[in-house]
Amino acid sequence: MSRLVIRDGMVLTLDDAGTYHERGTVVIEGDRITAVSGTAVPAEPGDTVIDATDKIVLPGLVDLHYHTALGKGYNDHLPLWEYLDECWYPIIRALDPEAAYWAAMASYAESIKAGVTTVNDMYRQLPALAKAAEEIGIRAVLSNDTALDEHDLDTLQDNADAFAKLHGTADGRVEVRIGIEWLPLASPEFLRDARALADELGTGIHVHLNESMTEVEDSLDRFGLRPTVLAYETGLLGPDVVAAHCVWLDDDEIRLMAETGTRISHNPSSNAKLGNGIARVPEMLDAGITVGLGHDAVECNNSADMFEVMKFASLMHRAQRADASLMPAERVLRMATNAGATALGHETGSIEAGRKADVILVDTDNPMFTPMLRETATHLHSHLVFAANGSVVNTSIIDGRVVLRDRELAFADEREIVREANAAFRRIKENLVVVRH
Ligand SMILES: [Zn+2]
Repeated sequence: MSRLVIRDGMVLTLDDAGTYHERGTVVIEGDRITAVSGTAVPAEPGDTVIDATDKIVLPGLVDLHYHTALGKGYNDHLPLWEYLDECWYPIIRALDPEAAYWAAMASYAESIKAGVTTVNDMYRQLPALAKAAEEIGIRAVLSNDTALDEHDLDTLQDNADAFAKLHGTADGRVEVRIGIEWLPLASPEFLRDARALADELGTGIHVHLNESMTEVEDSLDRFGLRPTVLAYETGLLGPDVVAAHCVWLDDDEIRLMAETGTRISHNPSSNAKLGNGIARVPEMLDAGITVGLGHDAVECNNSADMFEVMKFASLMHRAQRADASLMPAERVLRMATNAGATALGHETGSIEAGRKADVILVDTDNPMFTPMLRETATHLHSHLVFAANGSVVNTSIIDGRVVLRDRELAFADEREIVREANAAFRRIKENLVVVRH
């Protein structure tokens, strides 16, 4: 098997020991990393060599809460619930497979170019999404946007059908989980059914939970329980669950998350833009909960740049509590890599022999990374989280395949994606039906 050899890079492994090689080599064979070293590895005939001089080599970023999206910037000034009713639901109800495909291509292209190698994507038209993921080369965990029948979104049967058809495709890069839109569109029976289906299929769950105050009030109103308490009592929670947002958790709910080993996706820029508040992330981390990061969707964020999400994930908590010691750079970087991979049960998120080969190369030969103390890993952490944006990502390797090289997509035509996604949104926009309650 021919090898991919990345040479002379600043290799930030983000392994448990925090191993850093100032001039290191990473060897990839097939879909796996087979060697990581602080010295040069002699090239063999047939090797493909990538020169990583002046580049940081680090694990690809995991976007743990994600929706493919089409209508960026269409409606930017509404609170969550109104935004969903006026914008998100009308668009995803009008969506056809063609529009979903181009929306996914545009979303995945933007993410890959900002260093994301895995998306945990809840949306509709999963065959179109899987096709886009397979073609462009990203690792995608897909789930349907399911709700009770009267809301005219996807059903649990749709999600079971998608699992049967798509789970494990694209050499295992595409997986299917059970997605639940949110509790205001669900019932206790629905949550029990979702858990039973996930158990039957042996897959995980992706759910929005405690995102807004309005959601908490609705849950107390309809069920007499806070959202996470209801999720706990219906058996929904567990280590195979990614609960997105969790902005409004009380102490008891944080305890239930920790007790069940539920994973949380913190999405600080989405929470800020929609006016939802600031999640109690320091308390979640103190409780031992695995907390990853997500951008949510470009329709409500409006950037898919996980470098921006990382910066928000540190600065929001410092600002709120007037405490500059909170959320240091390395911790945030590990949330975007190690924690995201752990949350999805993936063998990615660090650069170690035996792990899946999801690796990005970040260019440091620019003012964003100046000055550069390349001998000091903590200086690299700081620049990555506080100084950089996604435009510094030069190369991306996913599952051992180079999907981005010198900022060019290897398996898709970016101009075509932009043109077709624009056309798809104009077409869908003509068919939007806003249901007012
Ligand atoms: Zn979301």
